[in-house]
Amino acid sequence: MKALNTVKFQFPSKSVNEGFARSTVAAFAAQLDPTLDEIADLKTAVSEAVTNCIVHGYPDGIGMITITASIYDRNLLRIVVADKGVGIENIQKAMEPMFTTGGPERAGLGFAVMESFTDKMKVSSKPGKGTRVTMTKRMGSRESVSSTREGEV
Ligand code: ATP
Ligand code: MG
Repeated sequence: MKALNTVKFQFPSKSVNEGFARSTVAAFAAQLDPTLDEIADLKTAVSEAVTNCIVHGYPDGIGMITITASIYDRNLLRIVVADKGVGIENIQKAMEPMFTTGGPERAGLGFAVMESFTDKMKVSSKPGKGTRVTMTKRMGSRESVSSTREGEV
């Protein structure tokens, strides 16, 4: 599938960049005429993915995080958040709600949040190589809601 539009950016894994990252993705998604709820959900999902790269991907230092956001036919948005950090040994286990290798301040719910706030989420990872989270979300549901209503009359 060919992207209709795409943006790619990179930044060091400093927590100060987390807000920048989620706002940038939201700004890119604005062309899809999203609802406020959709934008809020998108920002939360991106925020969780970026925080994971910062906290777990590069636990002992700073590394680069790359985000690619692409738009496909029918308002489909795909976001890839990737790091080249420590990677994940057991992806299935890591994705279980409440599983965490973090301290008591971590709830182990980041992946669950990403899953519920997007339409689809996929994690690929290799220990020592890094982690890539791909999320897809259909945006601009407002249009389809109004056209459904029109169709119903
Ligand atoms: P919370 O997100 O609730 O603060 P958490 O980050 O531990 O807690 P998840 O986001 O669901 O919970 O992640 C689960 C686990 O997956 C993490 O504890 C960590 O072991 C692993 N993990 C997630 N993202 C990465 C990453 N980018 N690099 C390495 N390990 C990761
Ligand atoms: Mg997390």
